[in-house]
Amino acid sequence: MPVPSERYGELFTDLTEQSTTRSNKRCLYIHVPFCRVRCTFCNFFQNASSRKLVDDYFDALMKEIEIKSQLEWTQSGLFHAVYIGGGTPTDLSPDQVERLGKAIHSSFPLATDCEITLEGRTNRFSDEMFDKALEGGFNRFSFGVQSFDTKSKTKCKTP
Ligand code: SF4
Repeated sequence: MPVPSERYGELFTDLTEQSTTRSNKRCLYIHVPFCRVRCTFCNFFQNASSRKLVDDYFDALMKEIEIKSQLEWTQSGLFHAVYIGGGTPTDLSPDQVERLGKAIHSSFPLATDCEITLEGRTNRFSDEMFDKALEGGFNRFSFGVQSFDTKSKTKCKTP
């Protein structure tokens, strides 16, 4: 059920206190709520990417990771999967992708076989992005297919 924003903090505390004793396997999800364009079929679009918005969000995300990593719940067990979803996480810069991966590794207790996924789109996924993602420790990629129609200009614009 929808949760009013003023209850987020209280609910997060309740859930993390309960789950310390309940779960053996845990997953971590980090959201990047930007896309360069809105695909016409998609209900997940939230914000158009702009360098400033993405940079401001990334700075806040780095602080959030630092704060959440210090919780007792966070350090109470291993994470077995990490998923960076969106939106379009590959709209982060290559340097940001590397920093994000390294921050995850240094902040959270990860299982040795932890699957760390970067979601995105192949469009503009450069060799540099791939290299930086690997340097950051990502070991799985999930690419959205906006259309199998290579001639269509209306389903999803990919400039
Ligand atoms: S890039 Fe992905 S999340 Fe963004 S609008 Fe297109 S399908 Fe939706």
